[in-house]
Amino acid sequence: MSSDHGPSEQKGQPGLGVSLPRAALSGLCPRCGAKTLFAAPAALAHECAACGLDVLSLERGGRFVGVITMLLALVLILAALGVDEWLRPPIWASLLFWGPVTVGAVIFALRFYKTMWVYHQYEECQK
Ligand SMILES: [Zn+2]
Repeated sequence: MSSDHGPSEQKGQPGLGVSLPRAALSGLCPRCGAKTLFAAPAALAHECAACGLDVLSLERGGRFVGVITMLLALVLILAALGVDEWLRPPIWASLLFWGPVTVGAVIFALRFYKTMWVYHQYEECQK
């Protein structure tokens, strides 16, 4: 593990000290750090199975999720069209490549966004 731990003055942070991308990838609960945040690849659990944190109520208000997904899909479609113009690959090659890429990118973006939102809400609740 070569990641730096940063300066020791992190008093404003909640106790876990987990970086957001790592929390999003592993689905770490903001309170106890268990891998319980996601019930499905891109769907939050209703509550943490380990500590009982009410994730559902923290998620409330995350209305921009749909907008983020739409924007991302739009960008990917435009990118796909650009590549088609440029390389003119056979259609099966396009589908083979862009299908998984789109699904993966959307799922990761949703995970990242939802994790960011839940952590933000959780910190607000601590004040
Ligand atoms: Zn928990």
